[in-house]
Amino acid sequence: MLSSARDTAQHADVVIVGAGLAGLSAAHQLTSAGVTVTVLEAAPYVGGRMTTDTVDGFRLDRTGQLLNTSFPELLAPGLGALALRPFTPGVLVHSGGRNQRTGEPRGARRAFTTARAFATAARAPRGGSLDQARLGAALARLATLSTNRMLARPDRPTADTLTTRGLPARTVEGFLRPLLTSLLCDPDLTTSSRCADLVLRGYARGRLCLPAGGADSVPELLAAALPPGTVRTNIHAKAACTTSVSTAEHGEIGCRSVIVATGARAAAELIPGLRLPDFHPVTVLHHTADAPPLRDASLILTTGRGPVAHTTVASEVDPSRAPDGRPLITSTVLGAAAGLPVAELDRAARAQLARVYGTSTTGWRLLAAHHDPDAVPAMPAPHDVRRPVRILDGLYVCGDHRDTSTVQGALHSGRRAAHAVLRDFGIRSDFDAQTLQVA
Ligand SMILES: Cc1cc2nc3c(=O)[nH]c(=O)nc-3n(C[C@H](O)[C@H](O)[C@H](O)COP(=O)(O)OP(=O)(O)OC[C@H]3O[C@@H](n4cnc5c(N)ncnc54)[C@H](O)[C@@H]3O)c2cc1C
Repeated sequence: MLSSARDTAQHADVVIVGAGLAGLSAAHQLTSAGVTVTVLEAAPYVGGRMTTDTVDGFRLDRTGQLLNTSFPELLAPGLGALALRPFTPGVLVHSGGRNQRTGEPRGARRAFTTARAFATAARAPRGGSLDQARLGAALARLATLSTNRMLARPDRPTADTLTTRGLPARTVEGFLRPLLTSLLCDPDLTTSSRCADLVLRGYARGRLCLPAGGADSVPELLAAALPPGTVRTNIHAKAACTTSVSTAEHGEIGCRSVIVATGARAAAELIPGLRLPDFHPVTVLHHTADAPPLRDASLILTTGRGPVAHTTVASEVDPSRAPDGRPLITSTVLGAAAGLPVAELDRAARAQLARVYGTSTTGWRLLAAHHDPDAVPAMPAPHDVRRPVRILDGLYVCGDHRDTSTVQGALHSGRRAAHAVLRDFGIRSDFDAQTLQVA
């Protein structure tokens, strides 16, 4: 600890409110620089939105987690042991009763074993080879673009820019729109086109993937790398200022600096004047069945009728999520449909999933439905992906709402906040504030 006056477990150089990815990332940076940290978490566990429940041996994420192997923050030192399970390259798009593989990065191996219904998919034309070539070239160009060049482009609603990317309308509607809808959790595509560019570049550079064993493996690894006792759960912060945090359970906890690393809504309550964004709601449905509806680790994007935006046989991507080789089908619902009552949503989703997988879904069992009205902070244009993290000398804020509304953004915002603290403490760090590592 830097200050000799404070030596009890209740006091540290920095108190961080919130043990989601942003708070844990900040804690990791600070403790690595020799600063003592206490992380206060209201829930009984770490991880925030990256939580995984265990039901009948199935590992069920509350999020519809699509990570990307190209997220630079996943290479952070605390995540050295993180295992990522990639999807089959490209995506399957279900449209007009057919499933078509598209968006494969150049040279990607095609690993595709069809189930009964996927006989249709196998027969379906894979789009004109010219269209596929143009898409491949566009993705390859995007993969090489620097962040600064991307951020220098005009920022507009993504929906207004879909037809300006030099791709045929077939490719826009049959790939770009459903892909961006799913990656941004935004069916109306009001999101900033710069954020869409960053997300698309990530897609072009890497592979979509799931964290092995469940989304909570990411925060748990980060927490395990901290000095013992750093994270204190079941402590709810009621107020924060530059030198202390008031808690419901333990009164006032003093420190030299405070980082508020909660979600956007709680941050706006703890720091008056902080802007509260709109949110994109998301519901995640987990089903199991007697047999896998598809023996393939693809992400399936849907277009047309039905509430599900994307679905996957998660147990094919990551077998450790299901017990005894049983299938786990995970589907994500976006927009207004995410707010439907569970029974109604499940009925509509099953009807759609029967068409998508070409098999009856009446015998499927719903394992869980997780609804989060504040799942993803909206990023309308113009969106500043380097939102300030320093409110005052001694008071800082981080979280996905300060960066991009992604795992990458949450982790990166935590790193930025930690380095702002270190600067104010007069401690040199190697963080280059101009290096924006978003994906
Ligand atoms: C359904 C869903 C789907 C998603 N899909 C994707 C995706 O496909 N790809 C992607 O990259 N990202 C996705 N995300 C977003 C990603 O999960 C988040 O961006 C990221 O987890 C946010 O981390 P955070 O640390 O900023 O916030 P949080 O995870 O919200 O962490 C904040 C923590 O602060 C705690 N807290 C709040 N108030 C207090 C208080 N007063 N006192 C103490 N503690 C408090 C909370 O309990 C929580 O643990 C999705 C999110 C959801 C919900």
